[in-house]
Amino acid sequence: MHYVSSRGKAAELSFSQVLLTGLASDGGLYMPKAWPSFDVSEISSWHKLPYPELAIRVMKPFIGSFCSDAVFKKLVYKAYEPFNNFDVAPLKFLEKNTWALELFHGPTMAFKDIALQLLGQMFDHALCENQRSIAIVGATSGDTGSAAIEACRDKAPIDIFMLHPNNRISEIQRRQMTSVLSPNVHNIALGGTFDDCQTLVKEIFNDTSFNKRWTLCAVNSINWARIMAQIVYYFWASLKLGGPKAPITFSVPTGNFGNIFAGYAAYKMGLPIHQLIIASNDNDILTRFLKTGTMKISPVLSTISPSMDIQISSNFERLIFEMAGRDGEFVAKKMTGLRKNDEFTLNSNMLSNIRKLFSATSINDNQTKNTVTEAFARSGYCLDPHSAVGLAAARKVGVEGDIPTVILATAHPAKFPDAVKAATNVHPSLPPKFSKLLGAEERVTILDNNFTVVKNHIESILKKKGLQ
Ligand SMILES: *Cc1c(COP(=O)(O)O)cnc(C)c1O
Repeated sequence: MHYVSSRGKAAELSFSQVLLTGLASDGGLYMPKAWPSFDVSEISSWHKLPYPELAIRVMKPFIGSFCSDAVFKKLVYKAYEPFNNFDVAPLKFLEKNTWALELFHGPTMAFKDIALQLLGQMFDHALCENQRSIAIVGATSGDTGSAAIEACRDKAPIDIFMLHPNNRISEIQRRQMTSVLSPNVHNIALGGTFDDCQTLVKEIFNDTSFNKRWTLCAVNSINWARIMAQIVYYFWASLKLGGPKAPITFSVPTGNFGNIFAGYAAYKMGLPIHQLIIASNDNDILTRFLKTGTMKISPVLSTISPSMDIQISSNFERLIFEMAGRDGEFVAKKMTGLRKNDEFTLNSNMLSNIRKLFSATSINDNQTKNTVTEAFARSGYCLDPHSAVGLAAARKVGVEGDIPTVILATAHPAKFPDAVKAATNVHPSLPPKFSKLLGAEERVTILDNNFTVVKNHIESILKKKGLQ
């Protein structure tokens, strides 16, 4: 399998090159050159497989000659071994025709672990094999950072620099990152929003000489391998609910559009999906876009579902690429427009194609809280605020007939104890290994939202390491 840039100009890459890079050199995102696809009878034959075995089958077409079948099996099993649930992603009944797909049983209690644990294994394999080292530079709205740090800590060929918006993530989220004192982990608290962190990381990647010199690598969902690993649980959920014969609807708490884009990929690969619901908090840029066809950036609002406090959903570029018949020049034009004018518009034809599969709605903090309260009172099921946005959105959109609906439960409620306590009057107890976080020593560098300052900081650490 080869990978092409969504902006059409960068060279095609192999899977291992895509794994070990960030943005394409033309500023685009890498996409598989063609969608592998499975027919319904093949998908049906997988319905008894354990999660890692299903993962191997779904991901195999994407990795090409990256590693042998035996090595791939070892990497996948190692990735899912730290999960504290045998199913990796158990499905729990919520209410009529509605299930929660619990994606938070990994080491950091958010769905990001599912992809990043695998990336950690694949990085290690690729780097050790070629005796190379990389610097991971990433931005996090909270959960990517800890999941990436957990996946890469103590892996000698990797240095990881993680930027988070100072004071804009929960205490647990911060401590999960800053309490990792491994010498290859470097936390940066940036004076700005998540979008500022993300913009800065993009600028660093676009600094070609810096990028080449230090071999920068992304763990954000701009990295194709993350999307790839997330495709698996759409198949998994469908197979648990009588699929692939019966199409199902997924409601996805959405920020950067990575998770839901994996749902689109599953659809392209032959999984019957009735609808993909883009569930947003007050940062409703995608809801407005689906109504009007205009993507227009407004200021980022802080909500009780902070991992979705995002305006610029990077992965939406991948969907535009698809909707534009994979016309990279078109995508490049739209993205330049977005950067220059804070907006772009798609024609009605493309918009109606998007609406055929996607719906979008936004849920405010009050509705989110009420959803947590009400679900807990009715069934004793405790949702975290992000997952609650997913459930509220599914109800608001109104799923037709008796089509099963799966809410992607993206975080453990204990990760957002304040919001959950306010809604349920119950303080979600931290699993034992997290309670010791509260007193643990932290290490973090606070920096201004300034490209040169951050770049120099990263370079000084990498240089020091080089001299050792
Ligand atoms: C990252 C995250 C999201 C948003 O996922 P995207 O792939 O960025 O759309 C939603 N909920 C939680 C808990 C997250 O950590």
